[in-house]
Amino acid sequence: MSALLKNYSRYPVEFVEGKGINLYDVNGTKYLDFLSGIAVTGFGHRHKEITEAANNQLNKLWHVSNLFEATQQENLAAKLTKKSGLHSVFFCNSGTEANEAAIKFARKWGGDRKTIIVANGSFHGRTMGSLSATGQKKLWNGFTPMLQGFKFVDFNNIDQIKEQIDKTVCAVMIEPIQGENGIIIPDDEYLPELKQLCNEKNILLILDEVQAGMGRTGKFFAYQWSNILPDIITSAKGLANGLPLGATICGKSVANTIFPGDHGSTFGGNPVAVAAANKVVDLLTEKQLLENYNNGETLKKEILSLKNPLIKTIRGKGLMIGIEFTKPVAKVIAKELLKNKILVGNSGDTVLRLLPPFIITKDDIQKFAKIFISVLSKV
Ligand code: PLP
Repeated sequence: MSALLKNYSRYPVEFVEGKGINLYDVNGTKYLDFLSGIAVTGFGHRHKEITEAANNQLNKLWHVSNLFEATQQENLAAKLTKKSGLHSVFFCNSGTEANEAAIKFARKWGGDRKTIIVANGSFHGRTMGSLSATGQKKLWNGFTPMLQGFKFVDFNNIDQIKEQIDKTVCAVMIEPIQGENGIIIPDDEYLPELKQLCNEKNILLILDEVQAGMGRTGKFFAYQWSNILPDIITSAKGLANGLPLGATICGKSVANTIFPGDHGSTFGGNPVAVAAANKVVDLLTEKQLLENYNNGETLKKEILSLKNPLIKTIRGKGLMIGIEFTKPVAKVIAKELLKNKILVGNSGDTVLRLLPPFIITKDDIQKFAKIFISVLSKV
C-alpha cells in the first residue's frame, strides 16, 4: 500500500541509475531514454561537466535565500538575456512558476488591463494561474473556479486573436510549439504576425519556452526560428538538465514595472541548480544546436523510411518530435516500447512524443527504429 498520493499513474519500472542516453532499472537492465525526463535531461544523465559544476557547488554552499547577493545568478541571467535579447531575469523552480511570474508581471505592466489571450490546447502548468491559462479544460475538472482574465483562441489563428483584443487585454501568451498538445507547429508567418499585432496594439507577447526552449529545437529558444523578439520568455525543464530551475526572462519595459516585494521565491535560483544551468548554457554552443537539429532530422527520416500505415504523419523541430498515428494506439505503443527497453512519451491517444537527449547517436536512432518497427507490426 503506497503512502504516495495517487495523482500520478506510473509505469511499473523504477530507474536507479543513468548514464548518457541510458537508464538502468533496479535489476540493472539497460534502457534507451528517448524521453529525457519529459524534455529535461538534454545533455543526458550524469553529464560529466554539468555533474561536476553541480557537485562543486554542493560541496561549497547549498542555500542562503534571495536576501543576499548572488553572482552565479547574475552570470546566468546575463547569459540568458544575451541569448534572448531581453533585459532581466527572475529565477524560480519550475515551468509553472515561471508562467505564474509571467502572468503577474504582465498584469503589473498592463495597469488596468488584466486580460491575457491564450490558446486552446495549450499547457502552461498545474498551479492555479498557469492552469487557468491552460487550454485543456479537462485539466480543470474539480478545481474551478479558475483565475479570471483569460480569453481562449485557436492556436495558429491570428484573426481570432484580433477579434479578442479589447481595452482589457495586456498580453498574448502561447507556446512557440505546443508540446503537450502533440507537437503542434504553427505556420511560419504566425509568430511574426502575432508580434506585429502585439506591437500595434501595445500588448505583450509572452512565449512559454518551457518545453521547446533550451536548445531542443536546434535554436537556443524555439522562437528564434522566426525573426522576432518576444516581451517575456518563460523557461524551465532543460535549463539545469534535471535540477529544478525556472526562469522568467523579461524585456525592459516589463522589467521596469517590477520592484522589491512584487514577487519572490525562497528556493528560486538555488545555487546548485544555477551552477548546473550555467554549464548547460555554456554547452549549448552554435555547433551543439546545429547537431541537435541535424539529429532530429536524421531521426525523422529514419522513422519516415519505415513507411508503416499506422504512421499518419511525423512533425517536429530538432529533437522535439511527434509521430501521429492513424489509430488511437499511442499509449499502447509507448507501453510496448517500454517493455522493449525504450522510454518515449505520448500526447493523448494518437501522438507519440520523442524527446531524446542532444547526445543521441546514429546507433541509438537505428536501434530505436528497429524496435519501433517491430512494435508497430504487433499493434
Ligand atoms: N509549460 C510547458 C510548455 C510545459 O510543457 C510544461 C510542462 O510540461 C509546463 C509549462 C509546466 O512545467 P513544470 O512541470 O515544470 O511546472
